Amino acid sequence: MSNPETNPSEVLCETQHGVGVQLLTPREVPLGGPRAMNVRRTLPQRSRSLIGGWCFVDHYGPETTRMHVPPHPHTGLQTVSWLFAGDIEHRDSVGNHAAVRPGELNLMTAGRGISHSEVSPAEPTLLHGAQLWIALPNTHRDTAPSFENYVPTPLDYQGATVSVFIGELAGVTSPARVFSPLLGAQLDLPAGTSITLAVNAGFEHGVLVDAGDVTIADVATPADHLAYLSPGLAELTITAATDARLLLLGGEPLGEAIVMWWNFIGRGHDEIVRFREQWQADVIERGNPSGRFGTVVNFDGQPLPAPELPTIRLKPRD
Ligand code: MN
Repeated sequence: MSNPETNPSEVLCETQHGVGVQLLTPREVPLGGPRAMNVRRTLPQRSRSLIGGWCFVDHYGPETTRMHVPPHPHTGLQTVSWLFAGDIEHRDSVGNHAAVRPGELNLMTAGRGISHSEVSPAEPTLLHGAQLWIALPNTHRDTAPSFENYVPTPLDYQGATVSVFIGELAGVTSPARVFSPLLGAQLDLPAGTSITLAVNAGFEHGVLVDAGDVTIADVATPADHLAYLSPGLAELTITAATDARLLLLGGEPLGEAIVMWWNFIGRGHDEIVRFREQWQADVIERGNPSGRFGTVVNFDGQPLPAPELPTIRLKPRD
């Protein structure tokens, strides 16, 4: 599978209400190694790093495969595993052992440091979903690592089905703990439906189209694309000509420049270098099992070594 990095990554337009809409094109990224699957990445990309605190959107499947990701570290972020189909077993260094299932929020807070593994059952199974990351604001990025599972109750709304897994939408509030104002919801629209949602005008939003022929705030958005909507929008209208499934993400602009490298989020090159050194020394070389990243409990196998750092200094992005 090719990685068409030279493709244009954006289309800029403006709706009749003056809200900017940017159509973010996915690029195929082969994850390689143990995961051995392709994902469609719409965030980050050259033209956009963040939507509120959302900083990473990988969309994958439906594909019959086996996910097998050995223990690896994270810092300064929360991960959201959201499945449309499949079954993944999560283990982490805080001692959590959880099943990741469709329609359930699995929110892992890395904070100052966590490690975890993600493995699907022994036989290849149908996997379809999204892996999302949230950058923690500077004031909370050293928080204690944790993991939470929450099963939202789907709500009927103007003929569509809305599952709010983070934040507040359509009168429903998720109890999941986040550290900046955010929204995350799955929207299912039957063919011929049009819905109008009241949204926070202080937020920027992104709508990832999993499937369907849809128009988002007047802009036709193809499947696998992410429509970005600038702040200032009070109502979001989505129209589906065919059955559609979408993820609506939003948040208050983070207003901070972050450095993302491998599985780490930090604020500068030297901090990322330190995280990498600690992972290699404490976990890969078994120097200090009670260090920043701890030990994944009951994982049968070796943890994932960090790749080499690039020869240039990592630069912050906002
Ligand atoms: Mn991970």
